[in-house]
Amino acid sequence: MATLKDFRNNIKPNWCPGCGDFSVQAAIQRAAANVGLEPEQLAVVSGIGCSGRISGYINAYGLHGVHGRSLPIAQGLKMANRELTVVAAGGDGDGFAIGMGHTVHAIRRNINITYIVMDNQIYGLTKGQTSPRSAEGFKTKSTPSGSIESALSPLEVALAAGATFIAQSFSSNLKQLTALIEEGMKHEGFSFINVFSPCVTFNKVNTYEWFKDNIVDLEETPDYDASNRVAAMTKIMETKSLVTGLIYQDKSKKSYEDMVTGFKPEGLAKQNIQITEQEFEKL
Ligand code: SF4
Ligand code: MG
Repeated sequence: MATLKDFRNNIKPNWCPGCGDFSVQAAIQRAAANVGLEPEQLAVVSGIGCSGRISGYINAYGLHGVHGRSLPIAQGLKMANRELTVVAAGGDGDGFAIGMGHTVHAIRRNINITYIVMDNQIYGLTKGQTSPRSAEGFKTKSTPSGSIESALSPLEVALAAGATFIAQSFSSNLKQLTALIEEGMKHEGFSFINVFSPCVTFNKVNTYEWFKDNIVDLEETPDYDASNRVAAMTKIMETKSLVTGLIYQDKSKKSYEDMVTGFKPEGLAKQNIQITEQEFEKL
């Protein structure tokens, strides 16, 4: 049985020292080992951005895709080979700006994959511009007088889009983050996990200290019922989207691949579908 070290490779991440993305990488590796996967049973598909490099740093199948397009690739992969555990990963710019259309539709489609967003509330790779997650008044090179737009609440969007699994965590809380990714991998449907993953180089406002001071952990609300959608929306709004933990889970809804007809349950890969070059050209 694979252990944590089997999910490590010899590629040294080129993230800045202290970047929150290191913890997300470690949490995915730990979660994969904890749920009993072998490296060849895991695929990590990522978008563009600093966080998009994550697919290269995990010993598993990996694909560093196109900006905002990790989800279409990940969904296609899952439909073609349903025996794979598929994780899509990227940043807040990738998933909530250029990729937002895919995010909303993947959520409501409920394909059995896990989507992890490394939310640093800025564009890091391009050296610090305002992102859809930046707060009003946030000053960057692209908004030198402060952003006049409101920050998007991905948790509210996910709930409104019909998500069956919504969680949020923080890079500093590796134990919680690992446990939530494990739960996400086990969830029979689309699991959305937003992670506060500080950009230590360009975001001098939303720092580790800022998150520690402002996060509201659900552990503080022991009677919280994660199956109650109204309670979930209330908690998200009460905490201004700074709640962490398992916020909502609906175990009753079937996943997309369980409902789709016309394919054998094991997916395309096991159907041994072969196509000739001539047939391909006619498509
Ligand atoms: Fe991480 Fe920011 Fe450095 Fe990118 S620029 S690697 S997000 S700390
Ligand atoms: Mg970002």
